[in-house]
This record gives sequence, C-alpha cells and structure tokens, in this order.
Amino acid sequence: MKIINPATEDVLADVELADAAEVDRAVERARKAYPAWRDVAPGDRARLLRRFADLVGEHGEELARLELANAGHTIGNARWEAGSVRDVLHFYAAAPERNHGKQIPVPGGVDITFQEPLGVVGVIVPWNFPMLIMSWGVAPALAAGNTVIVKPAEWTPLTALRLAELALAAGLPEGVLQVLPGAGEVAGARLVEHPEVAKIVFTGSTEVGKEIAAKAAAQVKRVTLELGGKSANIVFADADLEKAAKTAPYAVFDNAGQDCCARSRLLVQADVYDDFMALLAPAVQAVRVGDPLDESTEMGPLISAEHLDHVRGFVQDPYLQGSCPQGKGYWFPATVLTPDVTDRAFTEEIFGPVVSVAAFKDEADAVRIANDTPYGLSGSIWTRDVGRALRVARAVESGALSVNSHSSVRYWTPFGGFKQSGLGRELGPDALAAFTETKNVFISWE
Ligand code: NAD
Repeated sequence: MKIINPATEDVLADVELADAAEVDRAVERARKAYPAWRDVAPGDRARLLRRFADLVGEHGEELARLELANAGHTIGNARWEAGSVRDVLHFYAAAPERNHGKQIPVPGGVDITFQEPLGVVGVIVPWNFPMLIMSWGVAPALAAGNTVIVKPAEWTPLTALRLAELALAAGLPEGVLQVLPGAGEVAGARLVEHPEVAKIVFTGSTEVGKEIAAKAAAQVKRVTLELGGKSANIVFADADLEKAAKTAPYAVFDNAGQDCCARSRLLVQADVYDDFMALLAPAVQAVRVGDPLDESTEMGPLISAEHLDHVRGFVQDPYLQGSCPQGKGYWFPATVLTPDVTDRAFTEEIFGPVVSVAAFKDEADAVRIANDTPYGLSGSIWTRDVGRALRVARAVESGALSVNSHSSVRYWTPFGGFKQSGLGRELGPDALAAFTETKNVFISWE
C-alpha cells in the first residue's frame, strides 16, 4: 500500500499489508514468546520497558517528524505525542513490581489473589493519533506480562513500525511486540477471530467497534473499546466568556478535528449567545492552518481525500469559515455551523474541523442537549459557579470531563467512554486490570 503525506500528497513509503496467514504466523510467534516474557522477573521487565521508553525519548524528534509526514500533525503536536509515548512507557514500566494481589481473611487457611497476564493481546489502532493510541494499549499490556500484536490503521503505519524496531533495540525479546500493517477487514478481523488472541483493544469508529464486540462475544474474548464521540462544550452565562471563546476553537479544531474528544457541539446559554459569538468569530479566524512543519501552525490537513469528502458533506451554508491552503494536500478550513439540534451536523461525528453551535435556556436544558446523543466520551463545562460545575459534571453522561479547561487526556488518569463511546478504561492507575485476570487461591492449613 502507498503511504501518502496528507499535506503534500507525496508518496512516503510502500508498505506490505499482512494477510490472514501472516496474522496467524504472528500469533504463533507471540504465543511462543509469551511464557518466557510472562516469567521475566518483575524488576527485569520494568528495566526493559524503561530502556524502551528512554529509546523513544532519544528518538522523539524522528518519531515526531514521521508522524507529521504520515498523519499531517503539526510539529508542536507531534513532539508532544512522541513525548507522551515515552511517558506512557515510563509510567507502566513502574507497574511490574507493583502488580500485586490481595490477601483476604478466610477461616481454615490463607486466601491470596494473583493478577495473571492474559496471553496474546491484539491492539487495533486508528489513524488519528497513531503512535499515541498504540502506546496506551501496548505499555500496560507488556507491563502485565502479555505479548502484543499491533494492527495500525491502513493509512498510518510508519510510527508503529518504528516503535517496534525501538522495542527490539531496547532488548525486548523477538515476538513480544509485533506490528502488522494490514487492512481492517483482513488482518484486523483475523486478530479478532483468532482463538489464540486473548484480548482485543480496539480504538476506532463505533460502527466497527460494535462488529468487533459481537465477534469477540462468540469466544467471550476480552475487549476494551474506545469509540467515537460528539462531545459538548457547555458555556454558561456566568463563565469567563473571553477565555471560553478564545479556547473553544482549539477544543475542536486541534488535529483538524480528527480527535475522538473534539468538543464538536458548542452549547451557549441564550442570554450571552450574541456576545459569545462576537468573541468566537475572531478566535476562529485566528487559527493558523498550514504547513505542519512551520512551528507557528496550529492546524494541519485532513488525513485523506476520502475523509475530506466525508467532512465536506456536512457543510452547507456555514456561519463562519477560516482560511486554509489551496492546491495539493487535503485541506479544510475551521468551520462554524449553527444547525438545528436535530440536523446530522449536530448529531453525527464529523471528525473534521467543524463545530456546531446551539443556544440553551438553563442548566437542565444544557444537560438535556448534552446527553441527547448515543455518545459519551468527553466534554467541557464553563462556569464560575462551583456548585453548578459539579452538578453538571455529575449529570453529563461522559467519561472525561473538564471544567474551565478542555483537557481530556493525562496518561496517569483514567480515560474512556460512557454509552456507545466505549467499554472499559485506558490509562491511569488501574489500566493493568484490563490486561490481567484475577486468580484466587485458597491454601488450607490442614
Ligand atoms: P475505523 O473504525 O475505521 O478503524 C480503526 C481501526 O480498525 C483501523 O486499524 C482499521 O484498519 C481497523 N478495522 C476496520 N475494520 C475492521 C474490522 N472489521 N475488524 C477489525 N479491525 C478493523 O476508525 P478510524 O476511521 O481509523 O478512526 C476514527 C474513529 O476512531 C472515530 O470514530 C474516532 O472517534 C475514533 N477514536 C476513538 C478514540 C477513543 O479513545 N475513544 C480515540 C481515537 C479515535
């Protein structure tokens, strides 16, 4: 498959796609590597993961430039992502020695629990944050003693392939971490169906996630699902309107809106709607769209021509649009819509730089509109009233909320979706639980 730079349409590489037989061979290698990896002493496994993290750190600029070229990320974002992959690996490198069970009081003996690894884990990754999302599954899975096969998205395999090389260079044994570029319906589907794959971590669309959950159910295969979103940014009349308006574009246009956490529904209290829109317009116009290598660029291109068509299909009669480069590359400008709340632009995940704004009456109305979606991934609440902030944060059915801020992801706090945005949690202090089974052992005194 030809791998394309979405900012220039240049061909970056030719990558061979794995077929089902190649997946089977990779599973066999992972299965063979598993017992030895499981039995590596906790301190040694930790040391190997720290070495892997250090190598990622040393190659941070190279990885950032590879992600920039393959996924169109701005250089600033790509550097942050490479740094975050390093940090995720370091964070879970601290886990092997802390993967302890419990001792539970029982009569007639001793009861202890063990957190056992699962075996071979498949990690299926989307194209929007290729190396970052890969690391969220890989790091805790390896720390817990599993072997891992990563299936990157068709369009963006380059950083994943490089990370697999760095893992080997760090001393991880052959077969412990493999990366298999391939088509979703072929290589991805085979990983899901393979009886020797104990768990699938899938990040991608809700549509494919449901298909994977259904197939996994046939084998009671473990799944973690990180799916789509249509998150709300709720601005109350008492908020710092200037700050809320200035930051709102970045909450949705970052990574050209190709972010599962994008706050793509902007709900503004009716009393301040006109004032807010007057502040929002210059903030949207100010978003710098262009060459991802330029340090001052804030938004790059979309991932592909196909995706550009998809995004364009949602935009008729925009309230406001910024500018973007013309000519080669899959460019789309920052766009503000004011559709009806039943319009598909307001209800469907666009996954592009498009925000839909609507007015609400009061707190109850804001919560009702925010929750009127099958999704529940992230969201923001802007208010100076701490009571309201807490009430609304508790009422919004969503997994990762922020108040007077738009942050969703820190590797040491849990991340994941309510409703059809997902199943299970990644990151944070408890991620190892998603890659282990609890085993209970009773030892009699007799
Ligand atoms: P996608 O569902 O099309 O593909 C995701 C991955 O699944 C790719 O690697 C693809 O090859 C593979 N795949 C496709 N069909 C498959 C099948 N039948 N069996 C197994 N694997 C298959 O999603 P995408 O377009 O790459 O990514 C965008 C979507 O991902 C958006 O909906 C976005 O919201 C979601 N996303 C969610 C999160 C989160 O953490 N919740 C994070 C990033 C992206």
